[in-house]
Amino acid sequence: MRSMLHELNPINRLGKRSYSFWAPFLVTTTFIILSEFYVYVIAKDPMLVGVFAIFLFVALILYFSFRDGIRGGVVTSVLTVIYYLYIIYTRNYTGQQLISGIETTIILGILYLILSSIIGWLKQTIDVLLESESNERRRLQAIIEQLPVGVVITNAQGRVIRANKKLEQIMGISIPEGFTIEDKQLLETRHKGKSITPSQGPLAQALQTGKPVIGREYMITRKDGRQIYLQVSAAPIHNREGKIIAAASISTDVTSQKEMEKRKDDFVNMASHELKTPITSMKLYIETLMNKIDTDDEKVMKILSRIKYQTENLQELVSDLLDVSRLQTGKLTFNKEIFYLDDLIEETVQGLQESAPAQRIMYDSKRRVKVQADRFRLYQVLTNLLTNAIKYSPEGGEIKIKLQKQANRAIVSVQDYGIGIPREQQKKIFDRLYQVTDQKEKTFPGLGMGLYISKEIMKRHRGNIWVESQKDRGSTFYFSLPIKQT
Ligand code: ADP
Repeated sequence: MRSMLHELNPINRLGKRSYSFWAPFLVTTTFIILSEFYVYVIAKDPMLVGVFAIFLFVALILYFSFRDGIRGGVVTSVLTVIYYLYIIYTRNYTGQQLISGIETTIILGILYLILSSIIGWLKQTIDVLLESESNERRRLQAIIEQLPVGVVITNAQGRVIRANKKLEQIMGISIPEGFTIEDKQLLETRHKGKSITPSQGPLAQALQTGKPVIGREYMITRKDGRQIYLQVSAAPIHNREGKIIAAASISTDVTSQKEMEKRKDDFVNMASHELKTPITSMKLYIETLMNKIDTDDEKVMKILSRIKYQTENLQELVSDLLDVSRLQTGKLTFNKEIFYLDDLIEETVQGLQESAPAQRIMYDSKRRVKVQADRFRLYQVLTNLLTNAIKYSPEGGEIKIKLQKQANRAIVSVQDYGIGIPREQQKKIFDRLYQVTDQKEKTFPGLGMGLYISKEIMKRHRGNIWVESQKDRGSTFYFSLPIKQT
Protein backbone atom coordinates (compact mmCIF):
# COMPACT_ATOMS: atom_id res chain seq x y z
CA MET A 1 0.00 0.00 0.00
CA ARG A 2 2.74 2.32 1.05
CA SER A 3 4.75 1.64 -2.10
CA MET A 4 1.65 2.20 -4.22
CA LEU A 5 1.05 5.59 -2.58
CA HIS A 6 4.75 6.33 -3.09
CA GLU A 7 4.38 5.48 -6.78
CA LEU A 8 1.27 7.64 -7.12
CA ASN A 9 2.91 10.74 -5.67
CA PRO A 10 4.44 12.55 -8.68
CA ILE A 11 6.96 14.38 -6.46
CA ASN A 12 8.68 11.05 -5.74
CA ARG A 13 9.26 10.55 -9.46
CA LEU A 14 11.05 13.88 -9.93
CA GLY A 15 14.57 13.36 -11.20
CA LYS A 16 13.77 9.84 -12.47
CA ARG A 17 13.48 9.80 -16.19
CA SER A 18 10.92 6.99 -16.49
CA TYR A 19 7.64 7.85 -18.21
CA SER A 20 4.87 5.25 -18.09
CA PHE A 21 2.36 4.65 -20.90
CA TRP A 22 0.27 2.07 -19.12
CA ALA A 23 -0.41 3.98 -15.87
CA PRO A 24 -2.16 6.95 -17.58
CA PHE A 25 -3.84 4.60 -20.08
CA LEU A 26 -5.30 2.27 -17.46
CA VAL A 27 -6.25 4.95 -14.93
CA THR A 28 -7.95 7.18 -17.55
CA THR A 29 -9.83 4.21 -19.07
CA THR A 30 -10.96 3.20 -15.57
CA PHE A 31 -12.24 6.71 -14.91
CA ILE A 32 -14.12 6.69 -18.24
CA ILE A 33 -15.79 3.38 -17.32
CA LEU A 34 -16.61 4.67 -13.81
CA SER A 35 -18.02 7.90 -15.25
CA GLU A 36 -20.27 5.96 -17.62
CA PHE A 37 -21.30 3.62 -14.81
CA TYR A 38 -22.20 6.61 -12.61
CA VAL A 39 -24.39 8.41 -15.17
CA TYR A 40 -26.17 5.35 -16.49
CA VAL A 41 -26.50 3.16 -13.41
CA ILE A 42 -26.38 5.46 -10.35
CA ALA A 43 -27.60 8.89 -11.55
CA LYS A 44 -29.64 7.43 -14.43
CA ASP A 45 -29.14 10.66 -16.41
CA PRO A 46 -26.75 10.33 -19.36
CA MET A 47 -26.72 14.12 -19.88
CA LEU A 48 -25.13 14.70 -16.45
CA VAL A 49 -21.71 13.77 -17.75
CA GLY A 50 -20.90 17.13 -19.46
CA VAL A 51 -19.59 19.43 -16.72
CA PHE A 52 -17.88 17.00 -14.39
CA ALA A 53 -16.27 15.21 -17.32
CA ILE A 54 -14.44 18.42 -18.18
CA PHE A 55 -13.17 19.07 -14.62
CA LEU A 56 -12.32 15.47 -13.83
CA PHE A 57 -10.42 14.83 -17.04
CA VAL A 58 -8.55 18.15 -16.98
CA ALA A 59 -7.37 17.15 -13.50
CA LEU A 60 -6.27 13.75 -14.84
CA ILE A 61 -4.39 15.38 -17.74
CA LEU A 62 -2.58 17.75 -15.35
CA TYR A 63 -1.74 14.91 -13.01
CA PHE A 64 -0.34 12.56 -15.65
CA SER A 65 1.59 15.31 -17.46
CA PHE A 66 3.32 16.01 -14.17
CA ARG A 67 3.77 12.32 -13.35
CA ASP A 68 4.67 10.82 -16.71
CA GLY A 69 5.82 13.79 -18.78
CA ILE A 70 4.65 14.49 -22.32
CA ARG A 71 3.78 10.82 -22.85
CA GLY A 72 1.45 10.69 -19.80
CA GLY A 73 -0.23 13.99 -20.73
CA VAL A 74 -0.76 13.05 -24.38
CA VAL A 75 -2.15 9.56 -23.59
CA THR A 76 -4.65 11.06 -21.12
CA SER A 77 -5.59 13.90 -23.52
CA VAL A 78 -6.18 11.52 -26.46
CA LEU A 79 -8.30 9.16 -24.32
CA THR A 80 -10.27 12.13 -23.01
CA VAL A 81 -10.99 13.40 -26.54
CA ILE A 82 -12.04 9.89 -27.62
CA TYR A 83 -14.35 9.77 -24.63
CA TYR A 84 -15.88 13.18 -25.50
CA LEU A 85 -16.53 11.95 -29.07
CA TYR A 86 -18.03 8.78 -27.65
CA ILE A 87 -20.38 10.89 -25.49
CA ILE A 88 -21.47 12.93 -28.54
CA TYR A 89 -22.09 9.73 -30.46
CA THR A 90 -23.97 7.83 -27.70
CA ARG A 91 -26.12 10.80 -26.54
CA ASN A 92 -27.57 11.13 -30.06
CA TYR A 93 -26.73 14.81 -30.60
CA THR A 94 -28.17 16.23 -33.81
CA GLY A 95 -28.05 19.37 -35.91
CA GLN A 96 -26.48 22.45 -34.32
CA GLN A 97 -25.85 20.57 -31.03
CA LEU A 98 -23.82 17.94 -32.89
CA ILE A 99 -21.73 20.56 -34.76
CA SER A 100 -20.99 22.65 -31.66
CA GLY A 101 -20.25 19.45 -29.68
CA ILE A 102 -17.64 18.37 -32.26
CA GLU A 103 -16.20 21.92 -32.50
CA THR A 104 -15.86 22.17 -28.71
CA THR A 105 -14.22 18.74 -28.54
CA ILE A 106 -11.68 19.72 -31.23
CA ILE A 107 -10.85 23.03 -29.46
CA LEU A 108 -10.62 21.32 -26.05
CA GLY A 109 -8.51 18.54 -27.59
CA ILE A 110 -6.04 21.07 -28.98
CA LEU A 111 -5.95 22.92 -25.62
CA TYR A 112 -5.41 19.68 -23.71
CA LEU A 113 -2.56 18.67 -25.99
CA ILE A 114 -0.88 22.08 -25.64
CA LEU A 115 -1.37 22.03 -21.85
CA SER A 116 -0.07 18.50 -21.41
CA SER A 117 2.90 19.15 -23.70
CA ILE A 118 3.93 22.27 -21.76
CA ILE A 119 3.59 20.63 -18.32
CA GLY A 120 5.16 17.39 -19.58
CA TRP A 121 8.09 19.29 -21.09
CA LEU A 122 8.62 21.22 -17.84
CA LYS A 123 8.57 17.99 -15.85
CA GLN A 124 11.08 16.36 -18.21
CA THR A 125 13.38 19.41 -18.09
CA ILE A 126 13.32 19.34 -14.26
CA ASP A 127 14.17 15.62 -14.43
CA VAL A 128 17.19 16.27 -16.65
CA LEU A 129 18.45 19.04 -14.35
CA LEU A 130 17.96 17.00 -11.21
CA GLU A 131 19.58 13.98 -12.79
CA SER A 132 22.66 15.88 -13.90
CA GLU A 133 22.97 17.38 -10.43
CA SER A 134 22.67 14.02 -8.75
CA ASN A 135 25.07 12.53 -11.30
CA GLU A 136 27.54 15.27 -10.42
CA ARG A 137 27.09 14.52 -6.73
CA ARG A 138 27.47 10.80 -7.35
CA ARG A 139 30.60 11.37 -9.43
CA LEU A 140 32.09 13.49 -6.66
CA GLN A 141 31.21 10.84 -4.10
CA ALA A 142 32.79 8.14 -6.28
CA ILE A 143 35.96 10.21 -6.58
CA ILE A 144 36.13 10.75 -2.80
CA GLU A 145 35.40 7.08 -2.20
CA GLN A 146 38.12 5.86 -4.55
CA LEU A 147 40.87 8.32 -3.70
CA PRO A 148 44.01 6.51 -2.52
CA VAL A 149 44.06 8.65 0.66
CA GLY A 150 41.74 8.79 3.64
CA VAL A 151 39.20 11.60 3.39
CA VAL A 152 36.96 13.08 6.09
CA ILE A 153 34.53 15.92 5.51
CA THR A 154 32.72 17.59 8.39
CA ASN A 155 30.14 20.34 8.55
CA ALA A 156 30.90 23.68 10.21
CA GLN A 157 30.01 22.19 13.61
CA GLY A 158 32.55 19.39 13.18
CA ARG A 159 30.06 16.60 12.53
CA VAL A 160 31.37 14.02 10.07
CA ILE A 161 29.29 14.09 6.90
CA ARG A 162 31.56 11.83 4.90
CA ALA A 163 34.49 9.52 5.60
CA ASN A 164 35.74 7.40 2.73
CA LYS A 165 36.50 3.67 2.71
CA LYS A 166 40.26 4.18 2.42
CA LEU A 167 40.31 5.94 5.79
CA GLU A 168 38.29 3.16 7.37
CA GLN A 169 40.70 0.64 5.82
CA ILE A 170 43.73 2.50 7.18
CA MET A 171 42.21 2.84 10.66
CA GLY A 172 40.65 -0.64 10.65
CA ILE A 173 37.30 0.64 11.99
CA SER A 174 34.19 2.24 10.57
CA ILE A 175 33.46 5.83 11.47
CA PRO A 176 30.09 5.90 13.26
CA GLU A 177 27.34 8.03 11.74
CA GLY A 178 27.10 11.46 13.32
CA PHE A 179 30.60 11.34 14.85
CA THR A 180 31.77 14.81 15.90
CA ILE A 181 35.04 16.40 16.90
CA GLU A 182 33.59 16.80 20.39
CA ASP A 183 33.41 13.02 20.85
CA LYS A 184 36.02 10.74 22.39
CA GLN A 185 38.87 9.61 20.14
CA LEU A 186 37.90 6.38 18.35
CA LEU A 187 41.47 5.05 18.49
CA GLU A 188 44.35 6.07 20.73
CA THR A 189 46.05 8.89 18.82
CA ARG A 190 49.35 10.58 19.61
CA HIS A 191 50.97 13.67 18.22
CA LYS A 192 54.60 14.29 19.17
CA GLY A 193 54.25 11.69 21.90
CA LYS A 194 51.17 13.32 23.48
CA SER A 195 47.73 11.73 23.47
CA ILE A 196 45.17 13.93 21.74
CA THR A 197 41.38 14.13 21.36
CA PRO A 198 39.54 14.95 18.12
CA SER A 199 38.92 18.48 19.43
CA GLN A 200 42.72 18.97 19.31
CA GLY A 201 42.97 17.39 15.87
CA PRO A 202 43.58 19.05 12.50
CA LEU A 203 39.90 19.30 11.47
CA ALA A 204 38.98 21.05 14.71
CA GLN A 205 41.92 23.39 14.29
CA ALA A 206 41.02 24.17 10.68
CA LEU A 207 37.47 24.99 11.78
CA GLN A 208 38.59 27.10 14.74
CA THR A 209 41.34 29.08 13.07
CA GLY A 210 40.01 29.16 9.51
CA LYS A 211 43.49 28.22 8.32
CA PRO A 212 44.76 25.00 6.75
CA VAL A 213 46.85 22.53 8.74
CA ILE A 214 49.52 20.89 6.61
CA GLY A 215 51.28 17.53 6.92
CA ARG A 216 50.88 16.84 10.62
CA GLU A 217 51.98 13.44 11.81
CA TYR A 218 49.98 11.20 14.14
CA MET A 219 50.61 7.79 15.61
CA ILE A 220 47.50 5.68 15.90
CA THR A 221 47.09 2.39 17.72
CA ARG A 222 44.65 0.22 15.82
CA LYS A 223 42.24 -2.21 17.46
CA ASP A 224 44.44 -5.10 16.29
CA GLY A 225 47.32 -3.53 18.25
CA ARG A 226 49.25 -2.36 15.18
CA GLN A 227 50.73 1.10 15.39
CA ILE A 228 50.41 3.19 12.28
CA TYR A 229 51.61 6.64 11.31
CA LEU A 230 49.29 9.04 9.51
CA GLN A 231 50.22 12.26 7.84
CA VAL A 232 47.17 14.51 7.91
CA SER A 233 46.35 17.81 6.26
CA ALA A 234 43.08 19.64 6.85
CA ALA A 235 41.50 22.78 5.45
CA PRO A 236 38.41 24.84 6.19
CA ILE A 237 35.96 25.22 3.30
CA HIS A 238 34.46 28.67 2.82
CA ASN A 239 31.35 29.72 0.95
CA ARG A 240 31.30 32.72 -1.42
CA GLU A 241 30.73 35.10 1.47
CA GLY A 242 33.83 33.72 3.18
CA LYS A 243 31.92 31.90 5.92
CA ILE A 244 33.26 28.49 6.98
CA ILE A 245 30.71 25.89 5.92
CA ALA A 246 32.74 22.70 6.25
CA ALA A 247 36.20 21.24 6.75
CA ALA A 248 37.99 18.46 4.92
CA SER A 249 41.03 16.41 5.77
CA ILE A 250 43.19 13.96 3.88
CA SER A 251 45.25 11.31 5.63
CA THR A 252 48.05 9.25 4.18
CA ASP A 253 49.45 6.12 5.78
CA VAL A 254 53.18 6.83 6.14
CA THR A 255 53.97 3.82 8.34
CA SER A 256 56.28 2.16 5.83
CA GLN A 257 58.19 5.42 5.21
CA LYS A 258 58.52 5.80 8.99
CA GLU A 259 59.86 2.29 9.33
CA MET A 260 62.30 2.94 6.51
CA GLU A 261 63.40 6.17 8.24
CA LYS A 262 63.89 4.29 11.48
CA ARG A 263 66.00 1.68 9.74
CA LYS A 264 68.07 4.48 8.20
CA ASP A 265 68.51 6.14 11.61
CA ASP A 266 69.49 2.82 13.15
CA PHE A 267 72.02 2.33 10.38
CA VAL A 268 73.52 5.82 10.84
CA ASN A 269 73.67 5.23 14.57
CA MET A 270 75.39 1.88 14.16
CA ALA A 271 77.76 3.11 11.45
CA SER A 272 78.84 6.15 13.45
CA HIS A 273 79.42 4.01 16.54
CA GLU A 274 81.54 1.62 14.48
CA LEU A 275 83.50 4.51 12.96
CA LYS A 276 84.13 6.31 16.22
CA THR A 277 86.60 3.82 17.70
CA PRO A 278 88.96 3.40 14.71
CA ILE A 279 89.01 7.19 14.13
CA THR A 280 89.93 7.86 17.75
CA SER A 281 92.73 5.27 17.49
CA MET A 282 93.91 6.77 14.20
CA LYS A 283 94.17 10.20 15.79
CA LEU A 284 96.10 8.82 18.73
CA TYR A 285 98.53 6.96 16.46
CA ILE A 286 99.16 10.08 14.39
CA GLU A 287 99.79 12.16 17.50
CA THR A 288 102.19 9.49 18.83
CA LEU A 289 103.90 9.31 15.46
CA MET A 290 104.30 13.09 15.32
CA ASN A 291 105.85 13.08 18.79
CA LYS A 292 108.12 10.13 18.18
CA ILE A 293 109.28 10.72 14.64
CA ASP A 294 112.75 12.06 14.40
CA THR A 295 113.00 13.94 11.15
CA ASP A 296 113.89 17.38 9.88
CA ASP A 297 111.92 16.85 6.72
CA GLU A 298 109.31 19.59 6.78
CA LYS A 299 107.32 17.88 4.06
CA VAL A 300 106.76 14.78 6.20
CA MET A 301 105.65 16.90 9.18
CA LYS A 302 103.28 18.88 6.92
CA ILE A 303 101.71 15.69 5.59
CA LEU A 304 101.33 14.31 9.11
CA SER A 305 99.66 17.47 10.41
CA ARG A 306 97.30 17.41 7.39
CA ILE A 307 96.37 13.82 8.22
CA LYS A 308 95.77 14.90 11.82
CA TYR A 309 93.59 17.84 10.71
CA GLN A 310 91.52 15.65 8.39
CA THR A 311 91.15 12.98 11.07
CA GLU A 312 89.86 15.64 13.48
CA ASN A 313 87.34 16.76 10.83
CA LEU A 314 86.26 13.17 10.41
CA GLN A 315 85.96 12.81 14.17
CA GLU A 316 83.71 15.87 14.37
CA LEU A 317 81.57 14.62 11.53
CA VAL A 318 81.09 11.23 13.15
CA SER A 319 80.31 12.87 16.49
CA ASP A 320 77.68 15.08 14.76
CA LEU A 321 76.20 12.00 13.13
CA LEU A 322 76.00 10.31 16.51
CA ASP A 323 74.35 13.36 18.05
CA VAL A 324 71.75 13.49 15.30
CA SER A 325 70.86 9.86 15.73
CA ARG A 326 70.76 10.25 19.53
CA LEU A 327 68.42 13.22 19.09
CA GLN A 328 66.20 11.13 16.83
CA THR A 329 65.92 8.41 19.43
CA GLY A 330 65.73 10.82 22.38
CA LYS A 331 68.99 9.47 23.79
CA LEU A 332 71.00 12.68 23.89
CA THR A 333 71.66 13.38 27.57
CA PHE A 334 72.42 16.71 29.22
CA ASN A 335 74.55 17.35 32.28
CA LYS A 336 73.53 20.75 33.54
CA GLU A 337 75.79 22.84 35.76
CA ILE A 338 75.95 26.47 36.80
CA PHE A 339 78.62 28.57 35.08
CA TYR A 340 79.31 31.99 33.57
CA LEU A 341 78.23 32.14 29.93
CA ASP A 342 80.71 34.97 29.20
CA ASP A 343 83.61 32.73 30.31
CA LEU A 344 82.48 30.02 27.94
CA ILE A 345 82.22 32.53 25.06
CA GLU A 346 85.70 33.86 25.81
CA GLU A 347 87.23 30.37 25.83
CA THR A 348 85.48 29.33 22.62
CA VAL A 349 86.48 32.52 20.81
CA GLN A 350 90.08 32.12 21.88
CA GLY A 351 90.22 28.51 20.74
CA LEU A 352 88.73 29.31 17.36
CA GLN A 353 90.78 32.44 16.84
CA GLU A 354 93.89 30.33 17.12
CA SER A 355 92.72 27.85 14.47
CA ALA A 356 91.40 30.56 12.11
CA PRO A 357 93.69 33.54 12.54
CA ALA A 358 92.62 35.06 9.19
CA GLN A 359 89.19 35.97 10.52
CA ARG A 360 88.89 38.47 13.35
CA ILE A 361 86.37 37.45 15.99
CA MET A 362 85.33 40.47 18.07
CA TYR A 363 84.08 39.90 21.58
CA ASP A 364 84.55 42.49 24.26
CA SER A 365 81.63 42.14 26.60
CA LYS A 366 82.43 42.49 30.26
CA ARG A 367 78.96 41.42 31.26
CA ARG A 368 78.74 38.55 33.75
CA VAL A 369 75.85 36.20 33.00
CA LYS A 370 75.25 33.04 34.95
CA VAL A 371 73.34 30.14 33.40
CA GLN A 372 72.46 26.60 34.32
CA ALA A 373 73.20 24.51 31.30
CA ASP A 374 75.22 21.71 29.73
CA ARG A 375 78.56 23.49 29.25
CA PHE A 376 79.80 21.17 26.54
CA ARG A 377 76.54 21.37 24.56
CA LEU A 378 76.50 25.19 24.68
CA TYR A 379 80.14 25.16 23.57
CA GLN A 380 78.98 22.99 20.68
CA VAL A 381 76.29 25.55 19.70
CA LEU A 382 78.73 28.46 19.91
CA THR A 383 81.39 26.60 17.92
CA ASN A 384 78.88 25.70 15.28
CA LEU A 385 77.68 29.30 14.87
CA LEU A 386 81.23 30.64 14.82
CA THR A 387 82.58 28.04 12.40
CA ASN A 388 79.58 28.66 10.12
CA ALA A 389 80.23 32.42 10.32
CA ILE A 390 83.83 31.76 9.27
CA LYS A 391 82.91 29.17 6.64
CA TYR A 392 80.22 31.29 4.99
CA SER A 393 82.32 34.47 4.89
CA PRO A 394 84.74 33.49 2.11
CA GLU A 395 85.82 37.09 1.61
CA GLY A 396 86.85 37.35 5.24
CA GLY A 397 85.55 40.27 7.28
CA GLU A 398 85.12 40.42 11.00
CA ILE A 399 82.78 38.34 13.09
CA LYS A 400 81.04 40.04 16.01
CA ILE A 401 79.84 38.16 19.01
CA LYS A 402 77.66 39.83 21.61
CA LEU A 403 76.15 38.85 24.92
CA GLN A 404 73.05 40.72 26.06
CA LYS A 405 70.57 40.48 28.90
CA GLN A 406 66.88 40.88 28.20
CA ALA A 407 64.48 40.50 31.12
CA ASN A 408 65.60 37.22 32.63
CA ARG A 409 67.14 35.82 29.47
CA ALA A 410 70.65 35.85 28.05
CA ILE A 411 70.89 36.48 24.32
CA VAL A 412 74.04 35.65 22.39
CA SER A 413 74.45 36.88 18.81
CA VAL A 414 77.03 35.91 16.21
CA GLN A 415 77.22 38.30 13.28
CA ASP A 416 79.09 37.85 10.03
CA TYR A 417 79.34 39.80 6.78
CA GLY A 418 79.35 36.74 4.56
CA ILE A 419 77.10 35.33 1.85
CA GLY A 420 73.83 35.61 3.84
CA ILE A 421 70.76 33.40 3.57
CA PRO A 422 67.74 34.07 1.33
CA ARG A 423 64.60 34.88 3.35
CA GLU A 424 62.61 31.83 2.20
CA GLN A 425 65.34 29.45 3.39
CA GLN A 426 65.92 31.03 6.80
CA LYS A 427 63.44 28.82 8.68
CA LYS A 428 64.50 25.63 6.95
CA ILE A 429 68.20 25.80 7.76
CA PHE A 430 67.38 24.54 11.27
CA ASP A 431 65.87 21.36 9.82
CA ARG A 432 67.75 18.08 9.83
CA LEU A 433 70.20 17.75 6.93
CA TYR A 434 69.03 21.01 5.33
CA GLN A 435 71.48 23.01 3.28
CA VAL A 436 70.78 26.09 1.22
CA THR A 437 70.53 24.94 -2.38
CA ASP A 438 72.34 27.52 -4.34
CA GLN A 439 75.05 26.95 -6.89
CA LYS A 440 77.33 29.25 -4.91
CA GLU A 441 76.71 27.59 -1.55
CA LYS A 442 77.28 24.13 -3.04
CA THR A 443 80.99 24.78 -2.85
CA PHE A 444 80.91 24.78 0.97
CA PRO A 445 81.51 21.44 2.60
CA GLY A 446 79.11 20.26 5.28
CA LEU A 447 76.17 17.96 5.90
CA GLY A 448 73.56 20.32 7.31
CA MET A 449 73.59 18.82 10.81
CA GLY A 450 75.07 21.63 12.89
CA LEU A 451 72.11 23.99 13.10
CA TYR A 452 69.68 21.13 13.64
CA ILE A 453 71.73 19.88 16.59
CA SER A 454 72.04 23.46 17.91
CA LYS A 455 68.29 24.00 17.69
CA GLU A 456 67.58 20.77 19.56
CA ILE A 457 70.18 21.63 22.23
CA MET A 458 68.59 25.06 22.75
CA LYS A 459 65.13 23.50 22.95
CA ARG A 460 66.30 21.30 25.82
CA HIS A 461 67.51 24.43 27.62
CA ARG A 462 64.13 26.21 27.36
CA GLY A 463 65.99 28.34 24.87
CA ASN A 464 65.61 29.58 21.35
CA ILE A 465 67.70 29.95 18.24
CA TRP A 466 66.96 32.13 15.21
CA VAL A 467 68.56 34.07 12.41
CA GLU A 468 68.33 37.47 10.78
CA SER A 469 69.99 37.63 7.43
CA GLN A 470 70.12 39.33 4.08
CA LYS A 471 71.48 37.62 1.01
CA ASP A 472 75.02 38.82 0.19
CA ARG A 473 75.03 41.11 3.23
CA GLY A 474 75.69 38.64 6.02
CA SER A 475 73.82 36.89 8.82
CA THR A 476 73.28 37.28 12.53
CA PHE A 477 72.45 34.13 14.45
CA TYR A 478 70.94 34.49 17.91
CA PHE A 479 70.36 32.08 20.72
CA SER A 480 68.76 32.74 24.06
CA LEU A 481 68.29 30.87 27.32
CA PRO A 482 67.14 31.66 30.86
CA ILE A 483 69.59 33.40 33.19
CA LYS A 484 70.26 31.59 36.45
CA GLN A 485 69.20 34.01 39.21
CA THR A 486 71.44 33.92 42.28
P1 ADP B 1 76.49 22.78 7.34
O1 ADP B 1 77.16 24.08 7.61
O2 ADP B 1 77.26 21.60 7.79
O3 ADP B 1 75.99 22.62 5.94
P2 ADP B 1 74.49 23.70 9.26
O4 ADP B 1 73.32 22.98 9.84
O5 ADP B 1 75.48 24.27 10.21
O6 ADP B 1 75.15 22.69 8.23
O7 ADP B 1 73.92 24.85 8.34
C1 ADP B 1 72.86 24.60 7.47
C2 ADP B 1 72.90 25.53 6.27
O8 ADP B 1 72.62 26.88 6.68
C3 ADP B 1 74.25 25.60 5.62
O9 ADP B 1 74.40 24.58 4.66
C4 ADP B 1 74.23 26.97 4.97
O10 ADP B 1 73.60 26.90 3.73
C5 ADP B 1 73.36 27.80 5.91
N1 ADP B 1 74.17 28.64 6.85
C6 ADP B 1 74.46 28.35 8.13
N2 ADP B 1 75.16 29.35 8.71
C7 ADP B 1 75.31 30.30 7.76
C8 ADP B 1 75.93 31.62 7.73
N3 ADP B 1 76.55 32.13 8.79
N4 ADP B 1 75.87 32.30 6.57
C9 ADP B 1 75.24 31.79 5.49
N5 ADP B 1 74.64 30.59 5.45
C10 ADP B 1 74.68 29.85 6.57
